[in-house]
Amino acid sequence: MELKITVVAGDGIGPEVTREAVEILSTVAHLNGHKFTFVEERIGGVAIRQDGSPLPARTLAAALDSDAVLLGAVGGNEFNALPPDKRPEAGLLQLRQALGGYANLRPAVAYEPLSHNSPLRPEVTRGADILFVRELLGGLYFSQPRAWDRDAGMALNTMRYTRAEVVRVARVAFDLASKRRGKVTSVDKANVLEVSQLWRATVTEVAAEYPGVTIDHQYVDACAMHLMNTPRNFDVVLTENLFGDILSDEAAVITGSLGMLPSATIGGKVNLYEPVHGSAPDIAGTGKANPLGAILTAAMILRHSAGLEQDARAIEDAVANVLQRGYRTADLVRAGTHGEQPVTTREMGRLVYEALNEIIDRAQALHAV
Ligand code: NAD
Repeated sequence: MELKITVVAGDGIGPEVTREAVEILSTVAHLNGHKFTFVEERIGGVAIRQDGSPLPARTLAAALDSDAVLLGAVGGNEFNALPPDKRPEAGLLQLRQALGGYANLRPAVAYEPLSHNSPLRPEVTRGADILFVRELLGGLYFSQPRAWDRDAGMALNTMRYTRAEVVRVARVAFDLASKRRGKVTSVDKANVLEVSQLWRATVTEVAAEYPGVTIDHQYVDACAMHLMNTPRNFDVVLTENLFGDILSDEAAVITGSLGMLPSATIGGKVNLYEPVHGSAPDIAGTGKANPLGAILTAAMILRHSAGLEQDARAIEDAVANVLQRGYRTADLVRAGTHGEQPVTTREMGRLVYEALNEIIDRAQALHAV
């Protein structure tokens, strides 16, 4: 299998965690005879400094000319005073729009042994394995009109969806649910918003195409509560842009850290893969960044852009194995707890690398018998 991946590591901890993800992908390629080519380009604050733009033309051209894009994170305190369209985050929004992916997949899994850092009780989080499917190109973040009239003291954003936009993202959610535990929870605010009434009616129509998948509709406020009370009841959560942004970050609490969450954006010209977290300027350069979100993102590249399901599982199993043995980056360790071994970003990457080597060696030995 050949794969050309554009790597845009970005700012803060972006380069630190992306390096580990690339090493894991290189390991899979080396052990299983694939040819993965990595093209490194700039985005975000580092691109503003060197190229004068948060998304240089050559970065966009490279991204469009690849099979997948792997992004670290963008953003930094020095850019906070800039207007929104000049900031590092503008580069990411422009890239997402240009690539055209509309379905943002965000898995949240409670790995064993459960992180002491989650404020939720183990009996609540144990076994939780949720896949958020968030619509990424519509809703409040992109719809027109939008305005801020400072003189009038008035600002306006619009939440707009068409039936076609809901159908295409709903089909992604139902397809994925049919390969998982067969349940979709669609989240809206249909008791108040017309756009949510369209959402609910359309999802109900799409559900009829999937008799093997059960559908449940929840209002977003109730869903926020159920996610914390009974996370195990969720399989695939389908929702619009803003609700998905908020609920998937809330779900980080189930995993113990934002640093554990990977994501993939599919459905456009080229799929975009990025850990959910930001550039974390408070810990950049300290070796405290958790690279597992980025490494699990690498697994999603293999699953969704290369059809290498077995290799994707091998990476996820390697992560589970390292956590099982008690290794944790600082974000997952709560002071005063025993049996957890704090490791740096690089050490965590190396541990996953070693576990992955063993898993693939074992699989190859079994195959040879
Ligand atoms: P953040 O995700 O960067 O950090 C939130 C908290 O989580 C911080 O305490 C941070 O130390 C911790 N954290 C995040 N990732 C971690 C990891 N892998 N390992 C350990 N701890 C981790 O969010 P923020 O602080 O609100 O934003 C910082 C900058 O990142 C801002 O400029 C923001 O705009 C940007 N941002 C970028 C993205 C992106 O690139 N996709 C997403 C969110 C925020």
